[in-house]
Amino acid sequence: MDNDAHILIVEDEPRIRSALRDFLEYHGFGVTEAGDGLAAKRLVDDRTFDLILLDLMLPEITGEQLCANWRRAGLQTPIIMVTAKGQEKEKISGLEMGADDYVTKPFSLEEMLARIRAVLRRIDPARAVGQTFRFGDLDVDVQALYVTRDGQTIEISAREAGIIQHFAAHPDRVISRDELYRQVWKETLTDLGTRTVDMHIAKLRARIEVDSNDPKLIQTVRGAGYRYVP
Ligand code: CA
Repeated sequence: MDNDAHILIVEDEPRIRSALRDFLEYHGFGVTEAGDGLAAKRLVDDRTFDLILLDLMLPEITGEQLCANWRRAGLQTPIIMVTAKGQEKEKISGLEMGADDYVTKPFSLEEMLARIRAVLRRIDPARAVGQTFRFGDLDVDVQALYVTRDGQTIEISAREAGIIQHFAAHPDRVISRDELYRQVWKETLTDLGTRTVDMHIAKLRARIEVDSNDPKLIQTVRGAGYRYVP
């Protein structure tokens, strides 16, 4: 059991790309591939990924340029730079450009998996959305633990703030109870955990939805979990 994280592999060498894809899919990740910098740019413009594996030397737009542009545009997705041996200078500038880690080619797949897991573990949903952000028609302040709608203040618990943060960081994506429990409670899901998640969602809806019988912010996806629709 791994996680539902979706990874973008940006790599122009087809053999490396497909080896990574097969390996990561085997370990339960969702995978999208880009063979050059332009394709990667289009994909990232289009949807949200949980992590990007970014080769440095790419046709069209280099990994370095991509990383710099994304960070300048405010993209918070974790990035692992993949450098070839002897690209020490590029590696350092990659980190300066805002990459979270780097792996040097040739790498073992197990090593790459360990790095990916470490980076994903480090991600704090607060980093993805900040302390104050919009959540549908609400203004959320997870530090002060309240949300406001039309000037009306609604208090929330720290746990509820964690739930909102996780949904806000992954808009329009199905979030399973398992994922929510691991990310917010930091535990592995049990039967009891499933009920705990559902109970918290119900209480949160009663608090923040205009009509908790017809939730618009956190919607139920039958048999799969929940989804935040901004
Ligand atoms: Ca390359």
